[in-house]
Amino acid sequence: MNVYDSERMTGILAPLGYAVADVPDDADLVILNTCHIREKAAEKIYSELGRLRQAKSRRERTGQTMIIAVAGCVAQAEGEEIVRRAPFVNMVFGPQTYHRLPEMVARVQQASDVVMDTDFPTESKFDQLPAQSEPAGVAAFVTVQEGCDKFCTFCVVPYTRGAEFSRPTGQVVAEVGRLVHSGAREITLLGQNVNAYHGAAEGGGEWRLGRLIAELARIDGLRRIRYTTSYPAEMDDDLITAHRDVPELMPFLHMPVQSGSDRVLQAMNRRHSADDYRRLVDRLRRARFDIALSSDFIVGFPGETDADFSKTMDLVQDIGFSQAYSFKFSPRPGTHAAADERQVPDTVKTERLDALQMVLNAGQAAFNESCVGRTMPVLLDRLGRHPGQAVGRSPYMQAVHVTAPPTMFGNVVDVRITRAHANSLGGELAEVDEGDGYHKRTSA
Ligand code: SAH
Repeated sequence: MNVYDSERMTGILAPLGYAVADVPDDADLVILNTCHIREKAAEKIYSELGRLRQAKSRRERTGQTMIIAVAGCVAQAEGEEIVRRAPFVNMVFGPQTYHRLPEMVARVQQASDVVMDTDFPTESKFDQLPAQSEPAGVAAFVTVQEGCDKFCTFCVVPYTRGAEFSRPTGQVVAEVGRLVHSGAREITLLGQNVNAYHGAAEGGGEWRLGRLIAELARIDGLRRIRYTTSYPAEMDDDLITAHRDVPELMPFLHMPVQSGSDRVLQAMNRRHSADDYRRLVDRLRRARFDIALSSDFIVGFPGETDADFSKTMDLVQDIGFSQAYSFKFSPRPGTHAAADERQVPDTVKTERLDALQMVLNAGQAAFNESCVGRTMPVLLDRLGRHPGQAVGRSPYMQAVHVTAPPTMFGNVVDVRITRAHANSLGGELAEVDEGDGYHKRTSA
């Protein structure tokens, strides 16, 4: 979502004469768009600001200027602290106010004071932003939902992105239409809690995500739809059915479970048990037998015992994830879990993370291996590092390297998978797919 937000900031600044610079030293304005989800992400910005300060003085020595802005969720959460620790910063604004950028830039140019805007405004930025004018990439993002009301006890999202909000369906359909018209073939619908989507429909009433996906699939030229990130308890029948009925909806789902222990899940306020998650995966696999699953895990949540952790390992074995992200619990200011007295020592967190990542990596390797010999449609969306090489995504979200002429860029092509690596696949362009397509059940 930060990538999407940054693109929108670029779009809103274009009419003021700003264009993207290659290096900070060439920039009149630098915006750091930040993430607050874990401490590591948040701390990065202070070292980056140190480097920018030097670039700013280099420019000032030659009579130029540089406006430095900190945007995003760290700005939202720690605006005052940023100004205190980095007084050379000119602008601080949160994720819900960047549509006011032109006004903020004008204010910075007039005043020497830092301009700060970390409101949660009543107007929606989406109503204020200009339509995208840049040509879209082959694989593009669209925010459809933002914020969250779930209040997982570890999570800062409700405090930084704000309350749950869904964009009206008409706005989303129009934006996706424009992106596809300018070259996008795959759209990823974004939201912190994307399947809580309930956008106001033009004819009255609301559409949930399943309905939105079914309608978007009718847009001519749109080949692939994905969505991220979903909350298990918000997976409704329509969305599960969309995985069965909408061929454009890719058979891959990132659905964070966080833990396999019901005790921990309850302390996290997750509203699903480990068995609820297992049953949900069963239903998804009945709808779409080959759906590949990804997840997020937190180890060392306050009070997590060895027994709790081994339930997480059990769940991983039971589900068989095609990939996953895992993190040590990071206490975030203002969250319930940060104040818990039963913090787990870092050494224990490290041990658990290592053990978990070993099985997750093995699962990913096994999944990648199982793809060798199969032919699958790949959307070529990037050029490879070597001449003549293109990189694309499999339906299951794996990166696939293939030798292909540049004319095929932006197309969905059939690729026979010949090699599996830890994080990617390699293959060759296939003759017309004759029956071992990814959508058919294979005996392997
Ligand atoms: N609702 C969003 C949240 C994104 S955060 C979503 O589900 O995508 C992505 C992941 O970061 C979460 O799923 C969780 O596993 C992890 N995370 C969030 N807060 C954390 C914390 N305080 N410590 C460690 N990991 C955290």
